[in-house]
Amino acid sequence: MTRTREAIIVGAGLGGIGIAIQLKRLGIEDFEILERNDDLGGTWHVNHYPGLAVDIPSVTYSFSFEPNPHWSRWYAPGAELKRYCEHVADSYDVRRHMRFGVEVTGARWDDETGEWHVALADGSVERATYLVAATGFLSQPKVPDIPGIESFTGKVIHSTDWDHDYDFTGKRAALIGTGATGVQLVPEVARMAAELTVYQRTAIWVTPKVDFAMPGPVQKAFRRVPLTQRAARIWNSSVLEALLAGVINYKVLKPGAKAAEALAKHHLARSVKDPELRRKLTPDYDFGCKRPTFSNTYYPTFNREHVHLETSGIERVEGTTITAVDGTCTEIDVLVLATGFSLWETNFPAFEILGRDGLDLGKHWRETRFTSYQGITASGFPNLIGTASPYSYSGLSFFTTIEAQMKHLDRLVTEMRRRGASRFEVKESAAEEFTDRMEELVADSVWARGDCATSRSYYFNQAGAATLARPTTTWHNHREQETFPLDDYTFG
Ligand code: NAP
Repeated sequence: MTRTREAIIVGAGLGGIGIAIQLKRLGIEDFEILERNDDLGGTWHVNHYPGLAVDIPSVTYSFSFEPNPHWSRWYAPGAELKRYCEHVADSYDVRRHMRFGVEVTGARWDDETGEWHVALADGSVERATYLVAATGFLSQPKVPDIPGIESFTGKVIHSTDWDHDYDFTGKRAALIGTGATGVQLVPEVARMAAELTVYQRTAIWVTPKVDFAMPGPVQKAFRRVPLTQRAARIWNSSVLEALLAGVINYKVLKPGAKAAEALAKHHLARSVKDPELRRKLTPDYDFGCKRPTFSNTYYPTFNREHVHLETSGIERVEGTTITAVDGTCTEIDVLVLATGFSLWETNFPAFEILGRDGLDLGKHWRETRFTSYQGITASGFPNLIGTASPYSYSGLSFFTTIEAQMKHLDRLVTEMRRRGASRFEVKESAAEEFTDRMEELVADSVWARGDCATSRSYYFNQAGAATLARPTTTWHNHREQETFPLDDYTFG
């Protein structure tokens, strides 16, 4: 056993980096960040597939306190995001707290000593007064449970583990998955491979992507007059906020969501002339049920002769043959899995967390309901911060979520200091009231009022409840994180 640190953060992605910056702002230096990968950046370290770019404009997809005037495009490529993560970690002196290649397997609260015991895969145990689970939502890659897939004898590449040495030239490729990742990968694989069959289970709403190389004078203005970048951020974030408002307040703003749907349909109609292909690519659920995405190259790719769309479903994989439900057999050399992540199966939480009286967070959520307080703390779990908690995901840019959580931590730790406390725990009544309120708000959103039955959206948990996203505006979220009643916590 090592000495007890003040805090342990699990995860060196943007969430972990943001919380680390906040701890330092609060004068807390005695913490370490444990990361299972070999470098920082989370999503932006693990994902490096061709075509990877952020699909939220970069003026918004960055920390508000660390704008980057150097983005090369309105939607920066993935490699720039990875560099941005490194830049922030270095600028805020966070990197030296990180330990890589360290996998956390579980954590247990010791009520007597008032500390977390954090178990590592190598069998050792670390101890800390505060535990921050900053493991993200999209961190556990999903391999589809298609019969025979494990016996596939060709090359398999998951989008989170791209093999840049594999040469697609002359190869027959299959790609499973048409989420935001698939939408970015399809044009790229089509460009490289001789044949491409895309297996789509659920179509995705795709709106045009207004993307452009950042003009030199704009970069110069962002550099010299930071207010200009701030203005661009405010304008762009307002557009995203309007989109969000239509989704969360579907009861009132349904026409807004329908307008976005009409835009996506128009985009598809302009890009694909074949009516049968268009029909297959048109989602049969309402806009917003599932996370939509933006692309100008995805739809036109299906017009290419060597690209085929298969929508009947996959029956099985045998050797190098994929058999579709309609009986079509396709011989392939390489199988690309853009099948996303397990959110509700292997996340929430990403490792076993045992709180007071041995309460198991994951089991508790599944046996009762997915609860949290302000999307960050949980009753029964003293001194635990969970950045990927139910109802934490706020707005479209993940930075909105992180910065809101930094504000919560600021208010909470400042109050603890004032009281000379070393322990916090949210009251059960406060967490229940918050969760009730979120459930009531969800009832007005597209997730409850829209037609989402066929969407297979990760916004819904296994029980079919939309417990991932916070159904409020991001503005409201930030205000609440700065003003929540301190009485909602007990301190000791
Ligand atoms: P995803 O949205 O979960 O999509 C996974 C895809 O794989 C879906 O089309 C899914 O079909 C399909 N799939 C999974 N299991 C399958 C199976 N057994 N059989 C057939 N199809 C199967 O994952 P993602 O595309 O990686 O995106 C996840 C999130 O990451 C996005 O929503 C976005 O928030 C983020 N993202 C952002 C960017 C960016 O900013 N640049 C890029 C990529 C991703 P069903 O829909 O039928 O389940």
